[in-house]
Amino acid sequence: MENNNNEPNNERLDFIRQIVADDIENGVNDSRVHTRFPPEPNGYLHIGHAKSICLNYGIAAEFGGKFNLRFDDTNPCKEEQEYVDSIIEDVRWLGADWQGRLLFGSDYFQQMYDWAVDLIKKGKAYVCDLTAEETRAHRGTLTEPGKNSPYRDRSVEENLDLFERMKNGEFPDGSKTLKAKIDMASPNVNLRDPVMYRILHASHHRTGDAWNIYPMYDWAHGLEDSIEGITHSICTLEFENHRPLYDWFIDALEIYHPRQIEFARLNLTYTMMSKRKLLQLVKDKHVSGWDDSRMPTLSGMRRRGFSPEAIRSFCKTIGVNKFNSTVDYALLEHCLRQHLNATSPRVMAVLNPLKVVITNYPEGEVDELDAVNNPEDVSAGTRKVPFGKELYVERDDFMEEPPRKFFRLAPGREVRLRYAYFITCNEVIKDADGNITELHCTYDPATRGGDAPDGRKVKATLHWVSAEHALDAEVRLYDHLFTKENPEETEDGQDFTANLNPDSLKVLSGCKIEPSVANTKPLDRCQFERLGYFCTDKDSTPGKLVFNKTVGLKDTWAKIQKKQ
Ligand code: ATP
Ligand code: MG
Repeated sequence: MENNNNEPNNERLDFIRQIVADDIENGVNDSRVHTRFPPEPNGYLHIGHAKSICLNYGIAAEFGGKFNLRFDDTNPCKEEQEYVDSIIEDVRWLGADWQGRLLFGSDYFQQMYDWAVDLIKKGKAYVCDLTAEETRAHRGTLTEPGKNSPYRDRSVEENLDLFERMKNGEFPDGSKTLKAKIDMASPNVNLRDPVMYRILHASHHRTGDAWNIYPMYDWAHGLEDSIEGITHSICTLEFENHRPLYDWFIDALEIYHPRQIEFARLNLTYTMMSKRKLLQLVKDKHVSGWDDSRMPTLSGMRRRGFSPEAIRSFCKTIGVNKFNSTVDYALLEHCLRQHLNATSPRVMAVLNPLKVVITNYPEGEVDELDAVNNPEDVSAGTRKVPFGKELYVERDDFMEEPPRKFFRLAPGREVRLRYAYFITCNEVIKDADGNITELHCTYDPATRGGDAPDGRKVKATLHWVSAEHALDAEVRLYDHLFTKENPEETEDGQDFTANLNPDSLKVLSGCKIEPSVANTKPLDRCQFERLGYFCTDKDSTPGKLVFNKTVGLKDTWAKIQKKQ
């Protein structure tokens, strides 16, 4: 995904790519490579999923293999079409190509059922009448072995009969399960006769009411991988203890055997990635939706102004390993800035406007000045920016009594207006309450374009907009959604919402922006000079422009690195 020729790069391979390279070398699976991304459609994708997508798709692309997008939709209760649609959109946006292999675990329900029947016939599965609670009590603990279920020794005939009747809907929810007959004394609790099927009279988003039993994750997942011919089934570390079960099912069925490999999931400071908790934020209206710009979801990040290139570069930078750790959010922003700096057109916008009247400028005259669209990219060209008698500058760029290190505008001081002229502040106009309402300045016509022919220097360059031509805009500024680096760290009795940042969203109205953006569309990205990177929001209309601040210009990550 990151390199255009899709070749594994020459840098040292990560441990998963090393396994894949060795398997190819040794002719494992006829040297085929086939990976998948298997989301459960019970929420929107987040930046952690991006790590998995980049890894799985990246490996397929780099080693000339295939990549499947597969919905692991085996649990009817929490799954919805809305999630399926959003996931497809997000994976496509990130740039992973499944080449038409959009697959659903639920399409394999019949095959899974037939295989369960095979296991019963082999004496390796049985119908159990223990309740969920009794099952838990029989399982034992990490230090004590479990107890066999009294139903463990049912005959094959009885099991086949009961299992079929479970499928046909003859028994109420929770009254029976199908379990694998493995070993109640296994030191690995996952191998103590795990449940394969449960009874659930629930409608499924794809299979409707066809099924009254649904497969459990551990049973279903390896079968899905096997059916699709996956070679390397890459998952997060929590599944390491499940691998023996993954292998047991596939060995017991004597079917094609993919290899499960675990890696450390992504954790990010100030960010929470549990889908259940993200759903809670949405349901309880702590955010405006899954695509709220403060959410760590791909749809939220896209709306905020993140580019797929930036997210891919972040995933490449963090790499993959086997140790859980937490990545500094500043690194994600660093990758984001690098891409936005190279690609974003520059415009001038004033977020907190202060009027400036150029007293010696001819009434009614408009000057069109040339402004560079992107100093990092000559091909982006230039544009015309109108200049007139009345302008706006940033309120923060003026101080009536400037301290020693404030070099911007002040009474009697001369500064440069970017791409325009030198101006000097002569008079500060105030209202009855003493608030500054406008500045009266003069300009030097000889400095047109921003330089003085006599060589005199100024210490500051300000951004500005022409009052007559500026467009009004709403601008949304964001801070972390949580106040703590680890949002899960709470006092006794509190839940993670206690760590929500009350100042994570600040909405500014009456911002002024240069007219070149009149036709901006949602998701367009730009840099507001001196302020940061911004992205047009989906709420924006030509009559009411709305921008999201994606990220500021200051690179805290670069600073952190310098210190180290
Ligand atoms: P849950 O199972 O709690 O609903 P999940 O985040 O595991 O949540 P899945 O839809 O099962 O959700 O995830 C799809 C894939 O993404 C899985 O292979 C999973 O391992 C991977 N994944 C999920 N979260 C992360 C993360 N933070 N970092 C890396 N990979 C992740
Ligand atoms: Mg999961």
